[in-house]
Amino acid sequence: MSDYNDENIFSKILKKELPCREVFSDKNNISFEDINPQAPIHSLIIPRNKFKDFNDFIKDGTDEELASFLKSIFNVVKKKKVQESGYRIIINCGDDGNQEVPHLHAHLLAGRNLGNILTKH
Ligand code: 5GP
Repeated sequence: MSDYNDENIFSKILKKELPCREVFSDKNNISFEDINPQAPIHSLIIPRNKFKDFNDFIKDGTDEELASFLKSIFNVVKKKKVQESGYRIIINCGDDGNQEVPHLHAHLLAGRNLGNILTKH
């Protein structure tokens, strides 16, 4: 957690310095709608604790935080009622993963057939 930048957008949302359209929250996580949705349903799930990315989360997160994050993602799946229709969960990490906001987050995408996993270049 040492090189976590407290000025990132999701940190500001957590501190309530910026607004968000909240979907679900629990002790360890909050989720909210993505500002630039890529599908009819596009929610973001983030841990409240300061993890820059998935690497740091696995390294420094407690077992409770890790399990709680997965369960929180599934609670959003249930809240959006896409358990049966299907969905995609994405965690971008680092430069090649094209992670833009340096606070760990999972994307939940659903609401239409999402096609192939990657756009061909
Ligand atoms: P990344 O590329 O880091 O995996 O995803 C960052 C996501 O955060 C993008 O999908 C982007 O649309 C979303 N995003 C960026 N700024 C904001 C914001 O201020 N509010 C919300 N709700 N989402 C944001």
